[in-house]
Amino acid sequence: MGLFTGKTKNHDYIIIIGCGRLGANLADTLSDSGGNVLIIDYNKDSFRKLSPSFGGLTLTGDATDIDVLHEAQIEKATGVVSVTNNDNTNIMVAQLAKELFNIQRVIARLYDHERECVYREFGIDTICPAVLSAKEISKLLDGIYKEEI
Ligand code: AMP
Repeated sequence: MGLFTGKTKNHDYIIIIGCGRLGANLADTLSDSGGNVLIIDYNKDSFRKLSPSFGGLTLTGDATDIDVLHEAQIEKATGVVSVTNNDNTNIMVAQLAKELFNIQRVIARLYDHERECVYREFGIDTICPAVLSAKEISKLLDGIYKEEI
């Protein structure tokens, strides 16, 4: 990674962990709206999912490795979003961000929504795609039902 300078807590600096479809999409969206974004993935091929217009930084490494988080200058981040495909990784990184680096806004993706209470205990916000999808689908079904009556 090139030297990363000028990011202070006064400016938005968002770190995203995991450059899968969700992470890449979020990184593109934040970057398009002018945010300072750094995205970490241990597989450098994953960065191909980013749009050619992505204006942020990429860092290849395992986000559970504290040296990688230091390299990302996590202490300067205003928010950390952990969206790897592994709930344990997401909770570990989210906890490190919250407890060790004192990051205010920490959000983690959670596949197993039954573990949401564990995250809540640590003050970590969660996004559970299965629960969100179920809500949206039932809203759509509700709309169809209302159209019919
Ligand atoms: P997806 O399966 O589309 O949700 O993508 C998840 C992404 O998270 C993949 O690109 C993985 O390479 C990445 N990933 C998983 N574990 C880690 C980790 N410990 N550090 C960095 N990236 C990870």
